Amino acid sequence: MVGFINPLHDVDTMCPRVMYFDNAATTRVLPEVFEEMRPYFCESYGNPSSIHDLGFSAAAAMRTARERVSRTLGCYPSEITFTSGGTESDNLAILGVLGQNGRDRIVTTAIEHSAVLETCAEARRRGFRTTVVPVDGEGFVDISELEAAMGDDVALVSVMAANNVIGTQQDLRRISRIAHDHGALFHTDAVQGYTKMDVDVKRDGIDMLSLSGHKVHAPKGIGAIYVRSGVELSPIILGGGQERGLRSSTENVPGIVGLGKAAEMAFSDMEGDVMRMTSMRDRIIDSVCEISGAHLNGPRSDRLCNNTHFRFDGVKGTDLVLKLNRMGFATSTASACSAGEAGPSHVLTAIGLNAEQALSSLRVTLSPLNTDEEVDALLEAIPVAVAECRSQ
Ligand SMILES: *Cc1c(COP(=O)(O)O)cnc(C)c1O
Repeated sequence: MVGFINPLHDVDTMCPRVMYFDNAATTRVLPEVFEEMRPYFCESYGNPSSIHDLGFSAAAAMRTARERVSRTLGCYPSEITFTSGGTESDNLAILGVLGQNGRDRIVTTAIEHSAVLETCAEARRRGFRTTVVPVDGEGFVDISELEAAMGDDVALVSVMAANNVIGTQQDLRRISRIAHDHGALFHTDAVQGYTKMDVDVKRDGIDMLSLSGHKVHAPKGIGAIYVRSGVELSPIILGGGQERGLRSSTENVPGIVGLGKAAEMAFSDMEGDVMRMTSMRDRIIDSVCEISGAHLNGPRSDRLCNNTHFRFDGVKGTDLVLKLNRMGFATSTASACSAGEAGPSHVLTAIGLNAEQALSSLRVTLSPLNTDEEVDALLEAIPVAVAECRSQ
């Protein structure tokens, strides 16, 4: 046990040097991203709408960032709107289409992020209807149930690109085709999939796509939504008419610059990063599954390259995460958003786990910053921590 305690503190910050395996919750801002943002706080601090040099320089920085993000999705810069994050993008996609085309139903899935599910609940309070399509035991959308749920009253189909708990990647092309066959729009929450799976909004038939900065090594509080040119959305934040009227409020210029830089960096060697994460992911899965009473949640293939999720018979997930924390590892149970909630994760319930199974889980999520040495250390620690949880 003592061998696992990591007493090292970073000499500069005096922060404990944790081995960070909770990248689905949030990621470290890359130093290059931070450096790119720095001038837009105290030097180039102009309002991008102002007609003086400080304003022009802020507007130019935003233009660069918008181009960088659009390049990563295969869309036009004018189709990118910056928001405060993934949650706002999801809210805008769903609430923004309500009443736009005379249709009054939204089709979504049982394993969406609460940013989608709670917004659908709000749509119901506003008199719209929703249909929640089930998923199979690995988290894949039940395609025949999706087809059965469609009709000419459906305004929007919203299905996440990849799940934040169990990493299941959906077949976006197939799902968007089903939506379009019935004249509905297709939105995807790609907050987890962005930079980790191959998404091309034109090829995949995506009308709207949400992404978030802090899941891809940019800061918290910045995100974006792709809205295909021609899709009519009503804004949910009203005011000065920034972002072509779709999202008022003075733009978060440093955050936007950071998101643009992070997007560019993530795509500079995405294939290499995905390969490295996939190999670490598979090593973790193979090793952890050798522990007796350990089970993998979610699929083996069509799984996010950075996601592993397990359950352990006779172990309380929160005990395990706290034990690993004391050993120097940052992990989580299901998702950071549900960590504060009592009860099992709705995602794990949706794939058929009972409450006890769902509450015995561990999520380990990677970033390109993780190293093989860190994975070695983690794979030594997990069996020890699991055994200790079982013996207490
Ligand atoms: C984190 C996350 C969100 C929320 O993004 P924020 O930027 O934190 O608002 C939405 N959807 C998924 C799938 C996420 O993982």
